[in-house]
Amino acid sequence: MELVIRLKGGKGSGNWGHRGRLGKVGGSNPGRMTSTSKVNLDYFAHGPGKDLLDPEYYNELVDVIHKTGITSAMVKGLKGIHVGDAESDPEWSGMEGSAAFYDNDGGIYLRDDNTYCWDMYLSHEIGHHLESRIFEFGTSPPAQGMLSAFNEASKLKGKELWELGLREYSLTSLNEFVAESMMVYSTGHDSDKKNLDKFIQDSFRKWIVDNPKNLIGYTPEVADDVTLDWIFNLADYE
Ligand SMILES: [Zn+2]
Repeated sequence: MELVIRLKGGKGSGNWGHRGRLGKVGGSNPGRMTSTSKVNLDYFAHGPGKDLLDPEYYNELVDVIHKTGITSAMVKGLKGIHVGDAESDPEWSGMEGSAAFYDNDGGIYLRDDNTYCWDMYLSHEIGHHLESRIFEFGTSPPAQGMLSAFNEASKLKGKELWELGLREYSLTSLNEFVAESMMVYSTGHDSDKKNLDKFIQDSFRKWIVDNPKNLIGYTPEVADDVTLDWIFNLADYE
């Protein structure tokens, strides 16, 4: 089965159906600032990345980028990260009920009244931004890995999902599954990330075994390399 998947984040794709019920990945955990982080704060503080950030909330946004480990490679093609008053700003027309959204124009919009959750919202919307690149080649290991994991995750519920850092909302669509996985990668607990990594690899391995004549000729070992790190650090395969 060869799938070429084209996804676009649009109005509504960032619509969190669960305001006020944010799951267990809280804003207080330390995020992904480990030794493997490739975040380049200079890019956002002084380089071209500075132009992406809403000047009015520049310091807060740099803090969130630092906390989530969002890299310059991840924001390639992004038009901007904007902060607004969801009740009165025209960009928010029709999206007032959303916590954050990724628009067709390539911009990420955050509300000014939920800053304590920006790490989750921003990483989720960055996940939407990365979808088109992950799925540009629908049969690449990251693309097929995420598709296989989404199909397997759709069989799970409750605690089984929570152990991956996910929730029912994460299964709304493949788009949301990718966005939520990015959120786990950026803000989740280490155990969630480890579990989700293994789940993606196991799902992809199962797909390869079940489809021995897959057109790409993947062998089960290919799945060993498909980690959240590889999927979201696109610089590695550009
Ligand atoms: Zn979303």
